[in-house]
Amino acid sequence: MSNGNRPLGGYDPNKAVDRQAGATAFQPKVKPGAETQAKVEGGGVEPKLAPRTMALPRISAKERPVEAGYEEHLERLEEAIEQQTAAIVEHVAEIAAEKGLDPSDVTLVWSLDITGRQDVVCSFCGRPSCTFRPVQYRTRNPEVDLLGDSIIVFQEAAARAGVKYGIIVYDEEVLVLRDPATAGDQAERADTLTRYTQFRDRHDYPDPNSQSWLQQALAKWNPADAARRVSGDPADGRMFEAAFKIFQQVGGAFKSMVVAKSVEPRGGIRGFEVRAKQAGIQMTGLAVGDRAEAVARRFLDRTLIAQDAHQLRDRVGDGVNTSLQAIKDLPAKG
Ligand SMILES: [Zn+2]
Repeated sequence: MSNGNRPLGGYDPNKAVDRQAGATAFQPKVKPGAETQAKVEGGGVEPKLAPRTMALPRISAKERPVEAGYEEHLERLEEAIEQQTAAIVEHVAEIAAEKGLDPSDVTLVWSLDITGRQDVVCSFCGRPSCTFRPVQYRTRNPEVDLLGDSIIVFQEAAARAGVKYGIIVYDEEVLVLRDPATAGDQAERADTLTRYTQFRDRHDYPDPNSQSWLQQALAKWNPADAARRVSGDPADGRMFEAAFKIFQQVGGAFKSMVVAKSVEPRGGIRGFEVRAKQAGIQMTGLAVGDRAEAVARRFLDRTLIAQDAHQLRDRVGDGVNTSLQAIKDLPAKG
């Protein structure tokens, strides 16, 4: 895959985890002969700085897979891609035939809210429940990797269906990851995923078990830290504005957008829904995760539910096809 000279800021598990300070930070090289001597002198086992807590990192290795190459992702998701692509391809072909148009007259946009959460820990003792020197810290959306899978499934399906497609990702900021256009090659899709990963990983996610981080937080602690907001609200409004802009730029006969999110929208979205209808954009919501029901209640009129985040990648097709069905149901233009 080709990424040109773009720095791969991607995901570095070593950087993110900030291994227990002191435990592995500095390992002087020891000559083979000297090793035994050092052990004897040091008494063997006592580490210089024992980690204060032995709790496991909150996000397990299983939930944060090491970033694999794009082809490995395709292999892993092959079944989901094949199943859902077939239905989308069929649906697009039907619309094109019925309306006498080309698949590329259909524009699909996938919009993904990856807003994380925040949590609290005492910077003095490292306990989450202690109120002595509490600090708020940003945590990744635990489902964020599963959300990312939906981008892969979507762009593969859209590419095979021959539609124009675009992708938006957002949390408190909005990134148009791809302006709507017909598909490029697989390297382009791999590059799109890489840029998603860079956006996803641009924040610092402190490890609340890291002694060095706790010490830093304690040193600069002030009472406001107890209630500080460190993870923003999802920028739903700005996302819709960005979507309207890219739909307007691309033109085309049929427009549809699916918005997947796992946190409730903060403000009302009724106004955006009305504007979308006026602009001829068929919008479908996909509420994901343990708060899916609550999200759905406050989201788009047409919102599907994927209770389990694992389901999102399997419901890409449902979301897209629901919007495509709405296009099919449009009255024929006189
Ligand atoms: Zn404490």
